[in-house]
Amino acid sequence: MARAGWAPPRLDEFILTERLGTGTYATVYKAYRKKNTREVVAVKCVSKRSLNRVSVENLLTEIEILKTIRHPHIVELKDFQWDSDHIYLIMEFCAGGDLSHFIRMRRILPEKVARIFLQQLACALKFLHDHNISHLDLKPQNILLSAPENPQLKLADFGFAQYMSPWDEKHVLRGSPLYMAPEMVCCQQYDARVDLWSVGVILYEALFGRPPFASRSFAELEEKIRSDRVIELPSRPRLSPECRDLLQRLLERDPLKRISFEQFFAHPFVDMEHMPSPESLGKATSLVVEAVKKDQEGDVSAALSLYCKALEYFVPALHYESDARRKEAIRAKVGQYISRAEELKALVMCDSKSLLRQANPAREILKEMAKDKPRLCAALEMASAAIAKEEEGKDDGDTLELYQQSLGELLLILAAEPAGRRRELLHAEIQALMARAEYLKDQIKMREAQSMGKEALAESVRSSCTLQ
Ligand code: ADP
Ligand code: MG
Repeated sequence: MARAGWAPPRLDEFILTERLGTGTYATVYKAYRKKNTREVVAVKCVSKRSLNRVSVENLLTEIEILKTIRHPHIVELKDFQWDSDHIYLIMEFCAGGDLSHFIRMRRILPEKVARIFLQQLACALKFLHDHNISHLDLKPQNILLSAPENPQLKLADFGFAQYMSPWDEKHVLRGSPLYMAPEMVCCQQYDARVDLWSVGVILYEALFGRPPFASRSFAELEEKIRSDRVIELPSRPRLSPECRDLLQRLLERDPLKRISFEQFFAHPFVDMEHMPSPESLGKATSLVVEAVKKDQEGDVSAALSLYCKALEYFVPALHYESDARRKEAIRAKVGQYISRAEELKALVMCDSKSLLRQANPAREILKEMAKDKPRLCAALEMASAAIAKEEEGKDDGDTLELYQQSLGELLLILAAEPAGRRRELLHAEIQALMARAEYLKDQIKMREAQSMGKEALAESVRSSCTLQ
């Protein structure tokens, strides 16, 4: 294997220059294609001696398959060559270095930045999973960044680990056990699910600045890996409940209880649907077209809900756009839509208040008729408290919970209520309350989308939306 200080190997079509990195199995050099284009590439030199289990021929067949893979978040394998000692992989050059360096320079990453990276990683893993390929060696060193500015994550080093056992001939572990799933280290028996554990470790390290099994000595590390204690998450920095939930479910020691690939791709913190992609802007625009139509027709609440759904795509679209002028144009539009959504919101609020007042007389009659039924009385009281709270305009989350509790009770009571006037009134009241609760839920969602839109605007103005 090439070592630091050695002259780079010679390749017919390329001029090899500086060493970019040395990993577990290979040394990687920056290189230029000799012919006309002078294209910059990275050449990875793998020593044939590090290959075991399967013959070199099988590996070459596998590389042939990897060559056909094209994905925006996977390092492109352009070509390969070999001689008596080495296999040379000619790859796309990633100028942003690797994720381990990126995290170290910043100590920790804000949840929002970590989430964008995680979404890109999930996107690459989904693609590999659909092609039945496991990585088996996921770690920040194997995740590269396309460029120092506005970096896109690029997964590297996949598809080879299966030809290279994590143990060498003397049964000494190769690579870093910090990122390996416990079953890989302990039982020497594992499958694709080890990749999900490693994703958990990478996310943990990005958010807390060190991997969960960080240790001062090998004995301490071994103890942590072999233990059956649940992985505890530090209480700081504060993270969203979705983010904590995902970490906990990825870092589950038992591969049978660990989150599955499908659950991971659909997890609310990953939310692949709303990740910055070339489609974000198209989706946002078609929703906004519908919103404008409803707005013109005077359907205020439908228009509002569509504007908010559109904003959920505009935010990632803003992140995705790298051209400064186009970004500015999107930003101006988003500003307009936010203002319009706010106007509509004020209108909807007005409407709903008058609706609320109209519903009152029947409610009072029902209360009269409930006097000999303490349980019904209490449930109706709770509903009134929710309405009062809503009118005050205080904590919507609490109000919604109150609505839901009272509705739960009222539905149980309705099931046992005999036919008659009281049942009719109760039925109508439940429907009215359900509509209120639904409406409140929509309000909460819309507010979230709007504040996300505003935050993204402010953020993009501050930093032109790079991930710095
Ligand atoms: P190994 O299989 O030996 O672990 P890697 O493919 O992970 O080798 O490469 C080792 C290091 O070289 C990486 O951690 C990274 O820092 C650097 N590197 C690898 N590929 C590229 C590339 N395409 N562009 C830029 N740097 C790279
Ligand atoms: Mg590597």
